[in-house]
Amino acid sequence: MPKVRIFFGTAAKYHHKNACEVCKIVFFAYLCGKHITQMSDTTLFCGSLDRYSRRPSCPVRIGSVEIGGQNPVAVQSMTAVNTLDTEAVVAETGRIRAAGGRIVRMTAPGRREAENLQNIAARTAELYPDTALVADIHFVAEVASVAADYVDKVRVNPGNYNDPEGTTFRALIEKCRRRGVAIRVGVNHGSLSQRMVDRYGDTVEGMVASAMEFLTICREEKFDQVVVSMKSSNTRVMVHAYRSLMAAMNAEGMNYSIHLGVTEAGNDIEGRIKSAVGIGALMSDGIGDTIRVSLTEPPENEIPVALQIVDYFEGRAAHAPFEPVRKPELYSPYEYRRRASLAVGRIGGESVPVIYGELTDAEKALLGGDVVVVEATTENAPAELRAKILNLMADGDSRPVVVRRSYAESEVEQLALHAALDFGGLFIDGLADGLWIDAPNVAPEVVDDIALRILQAARARMSRTEYIACPGCGRTLYDLRGTLARIKAATSHLTGVKIGVMGCIVNGPGEMADADYGYVGSGPGRITLYRGREVVRRNIPDTEAIEALLELINSDRNQ
Ligand code: SF4
Repeated sequence: MPKVRIFFGTAAKYHHKNACEVCKIVFFAYLCGKHITQMSDTTLFCGSLDRYSRRPSCPVRIGSVEIGGQNPVAVQSMTAVNTLDTEAVVAETGRIRAAGGRIVRMTAPGRREAENLQNIAARTAELYPDTALVADIHFVAEVASVAADYVDKVRVNPGNYNDPEGTTFRALIEKCRRRGVAIRVGVNHGSLSQRMVDRYGDTVEGMVASAMEFLTICREEKFDQVVVSMKSSNTRVMVHAYRSLMAAMNAEGMNYSIHLGVTEAGNDIEGRIKSAVGIGALMSDGIGDTIRVSLTEPPENEIPVALQIVDYFEGRAAHAPFEPVRKPELYSPYEYRRRASLAVGRIGGESVPVIYGELTDAEKALLGGDVVVVEATTENAPAELRAKILNLMADGDSRPVVVRRSYAESEVEQLALHAALDFGGLFIDGLADGLWIDAPNVAPEVVDDIALRILQAARARMSRTEYIACPGCGRTLYDLRGTLARIKAATSHLTGVKIGVMGCIVNGPGEMADADYGYVGSGPGRITLYRGREVVRRNIPDTEAIEALLELINSDRNQ
């Protein structure tokens, strides 16, 4: 394991740009008023780089559902209708439950919606008594206290609490403790508090500091019914944020339960692959007690995808052994660092990763010689491939690496999910130069499409338009799903452009992250268009907005 040296009380001296990532994280905790009590030389984000095991976490009761501890990883979804419409929310809850999801979240943007949770909870208890309800609070911290009277868990965003003493949050903890309500500390890239942004910028470090500040309060208040999440639509940011948080929590001896998710993943195969890439990179190291696959589709569609992801890790702890990582210090889990490799034609070096299907016969003839093929043979493919590549690095072998695994799957979605879960983390970590999905039961062009989408989802190679689309919730202000389909049809030829399609102006602009263009609901039937973070046109009718978006993109591209 990497050596980690901590200098208690003088951490500030070591907070410079060359400090190791864990030192930086611990320093953030220090800044948050923490006293670092425990840090060993082997503190890392997971228990082992070589042996799969679930991270031990504190069990959390959410109504009739318990997550964390020895419980299987739970799946969940979120309603997309107005929370004031009791029957519509309950109907969606029923569909999520029928699909196999027992945790259902709904937005409570204001006091009225929070009060209506009483009616929703009563109807749900009648119709679906084994379903746990979660209120999602975004901006008005006081609304969480109202919601806590009716639901089983409240999700709060530390970005909305600008009080460094945590007085409001401590009051919420007290209320939740009395009623047996759990809390999710839900940090989102793009909606950190101004205090954190001023100090760290909108960065992974800011996300970790934000979460640790709240978790510290939980610990001071001796409240352990806590789940924490670190979401982003950028899988690289998301994975680095979770791993960094794990390291910071491990350093502090904290074992709070973890909720995993990639925000604004979009829809169809693209949304499924993006979620699997981010979630898989973490679950393959045993991280995660509950997951949500956010799709811009009916919420019940999320559940079968999430269940397939959970199933894929079932029994993994019994995987066959492989040669352990010999020099773990060569691994960079907290920031992107592409493995340095020789360029063999367009494979390796500075080139974007290749896929097997695009190689010429001459290039294929290099595989196994000038280009190393690293193959997974155990059930723990991500860790096995990572170990083999890190050991090549330890040996000073700088030939480019193509990673390969054989799949018997014949169903496209299943193949896409499994390959994304296996390979996504390797490309997020910059370890491989090529991807070879050997799947003889699926058409080659479909396999190639899956491979390119995995590389795109891992931000390793942008070969098509990237859509950052929120799943929609009770705040959505227009026909989000239909609009996304129309925008995709009109823009899918724009290679490398990132377009955010967001349901509301409250969270949309912050959470569409690094989109080049944003299409954001700003009132009923009204859209505001963004170029990056800059508003270009405000409150235009949604009937004209797609055309206006296309004009904007085209005029930029013609300049
Ligand atoms: S951005 Fe989308 S999912 Fe997020 S709060 Fe707004 S409408 Fe809901």
